[in-house]
Amino acid sequence: MIILKTREEIETMRAAGRLAAGVLRALERAARPGVTTGELDRLAERLIREGGALPSFKGYRGFPACICASLNEEVVHGIPGLRRLREGDLLSLDVGVFLKGYHGDTALTVAVGGPPAGLAAALLETGRGALACGIARALPGGRLSDIGHAVQRFAEARGFSVVRDYAGHGIGQAMHEEPQVPNYGPPGQGPILKPGMVLAIEPMVNAGTFEVECLEDGWTVVTRDRKPSVHFEHTVAITEDGPEILTAWDPEGTN
Ligand code: MG
Repeated sequence: MIILKTREEIETMRAAGRLAAGVLRALERAARPGVTTGELDRLAERLIREGGALPSFKGYRGFPACICASLNEEVVHGIPGLRRLREGDLLSLDVGVFLKGYHGDTALTVAVGGPPAGLAAALLETGRGALACGIARALPGGRLSDIGHAVQRFAEARGFSVVRDYAGHGIGQAMHEEPQVPNYGPPGQGPILKPGMVLAIEPMVNAGTFEVECLEDGWTVVTRDRKPSVHFEHTVAITEDGPEILTAWDPEGTN
């Protein structure tokens, strides 16, 4: 069952989304060469708690940290630790916050140590664009699979692939609600999109094969060919007027 949110609930989710976005932006700025992913995790935990929220990921099915920090060929669910960032790394950061009973979930990939070039630049631009295409299809009266179809078309037209084993999701009082939001497939299928639905849309775009596997730590998902991957995610409310990004960064705001 897809849980529709009231106007008031979406207002609360807007606050959770804003906090998550601000934390993610701070992590992006802090992700410099020499910094460890564990240090980024501690920064995130401090900012989340200062914001009056709890980290959604910590303890989720036993996940040991507040953020996911996935480097290069790691797609998602990397565990922060002692590894130091190096110039040229592609670091995917994923943040979830639980504020006043609701979750906000957002992710991005950052090029460590300066503007990316070549493959990394193309992959980043494609990941960002794929997310934007998916969000643009989060329209009332549309169908759920229109989102994934738009994501896949955009990424594959640029010579990249989209991960199929992991998907976006409904979000609200639970971090993962129905429906699953795949990043591929034909359009015009699945539930009709309605105002009040809130979805975490999160394409994972790979440089090579779409196939992934999980490492022995039980969490870290990597590309099977070990080529790099990027991940971009927003929490999006479907409104009468179209999609509203709840995790957008507001440069004029406090985050
Ligand atoms: Mg998510």
